[in-house]
Amino acid sequence: PADEKPIAEVAWADEADALKALKAAQLGFKYWSALSLSERTEWMSKLRSAILENETRLRQAIIHEMGKTYEGSYEDIEAITNALAFYPKAMADVKDESIPDPENTHRHVMVHQAAGVAVAYLAWNFPLLNVGFKIGPALASGCTMILKPSELAPLSAMIIAELIDEAKFPKGVFNLVNGDGATTGDALTSHPDVNMISFTGSTRAGALISQNAAKDFKRVSLELGGKGANIIFKDADSEAIERGALRCFRNSGQSCNAPTRMLIEKSMYEDAVERLKKYADEFKVDDPNKEGDHIGPVISEMQYNKIQTLIKKGIDEGAKLISGGPGKPNGFDNGYYVKPTVFADVNNNMEIARTEIFGPVLSVIPFDNENEAIEIANDTDYGLTNYIQTQDTEKVQRVARKLRSGMVDVNGVGIAVASPFGGYKHSGIGREAGTEGLIEFLEVKTVGGWN
Ligand code: NAD
Repeated sequence: PADEKPIAEVAWADEADALKALKAAQLGFKYWSALSLSERTEWMSKLRSAILENETRLRQAIIHEMGKTYEGSYEDIEAITNALAFYPKAMADVKDESIPDPENTHRHVMVHQAAGVAVAYLAWNFPLLNVGFKIGPALASGCTMILKPSELAPLSAMIIAELIDEAKFPKGVFNLVNGDGATTGDALTSHPDVNMISFTGSTRAGALISQNAAKDFKRVSLELGGKGANIIFKDADSEAIERGALRCFRNSGQSCNAPTRMLIEKSMYEDAVERLKKYADEFKVDDPNKEGDHIGPVISEMQYNKIQTLIKKGIDEGAKLISGGPGKPNGFDNGYYVKPTVFADVNNNMEIARTEIFGPVLSVIPFDNENEAIEIANDTDYGLTNYIQTQDTEKVQRVARKLRSGMVDVNGVGIAVASPFGGYKHSGIGREAGTEGLIEFLEVKTVGGWN
């Protein structure tokens, strides 16, 4: 992404490779699911240590495959190592539970067991964070897995596979296939021996996967796109405007939970727009190989072109371009660099307010009062993360309850390590991360007459 030059060649799996991986995962399941949790935990902590020993190599791979900066890549390492430490503990808390029997004649018990073979498809925007959200609950629960990294960013996930191999994990527990969604994806999502699908990616692919999975009722968890609103009330703290723009631009705007619609209360609108212009004009774009606070390019030519089309669309629709705009930033003729862009006076019906752009493009929308802000925030197909900025605690709780999204971030406080992650509406079904993310990989079995 940074210089448009090839950096590696990887094998492109076909349907037969995908089926081989499935066979291996099925064989591995018998062994892995029968291990005690403490045995599985030992393997997971071996992997965690290997990741920490190889941190620099993994972060370099992320810089090269997707153009994220070194600083930015820390979030990926943190997430995968946290997941490998968190899920064994979360699994230990999943106990057999007694079910009350009104007549008190028999003992009924509910047990949770590994769903079976899980297939995980990854998006490219947080290559290792996404691996962590899948591998942690899969391995802790006793599932075996097939990981299909994004064809645009497979390198860091391939290093994880190497580390698992070097640690001599039992055969078949973890399998990786490369390739695109159409070949390897269809082979697995429509295969009756796959028990669970955990997908992170576009709403388009999520819908196709659900259709395939429906044929034999596989468990499906979908983490899809977003178009988050950041509601800034006039009593917001003094950094709310700049913090909101940074949350939109970071990772070069390629975050599913980015607050890409900034809703600003009218009495502070003019001043906020001026501040946004200054902030975005000064926002640094640079080579991801360089250290420091900046953003790198977006991942691919296709993504670059999509963003450019939408920026032009915003101008054509009559939104007021106050910073950035079409084309590459000065001095960056090579690489898929995008200017941090801000549109003011956006109407929520414009395409730039409705489509997930997945680039550093912010749409600013004025509002009159609380109800109108909530209405605009919820008027979207998506429902992943919304944001609230106000010092009024009662208002926070009132508004947070009314927002139709899986997550609400208040005054810059995001989610905790154990928080479930996921969305309403077209942002997906099910949750990753936290205990909720583990439950997705477990079947519930109730047994009567346990005594
Ligand atoms: P994508 O849907 O194009 O691809 C995601 C993965 O699915 C890739 O591995 C791809 O090969 C595979 N795939 C594609 N079609 C498939 C099919 N029919 N069957 C099986 N697999 C298939 O998405 P992307 O462009 O890589 O990622 C960007 C999208 O991901 C954005 O919409 C973003 O919002 C979303 N995302 C969501 C979350 C979340 O947690 N909600 C996190 C990160 C990214």
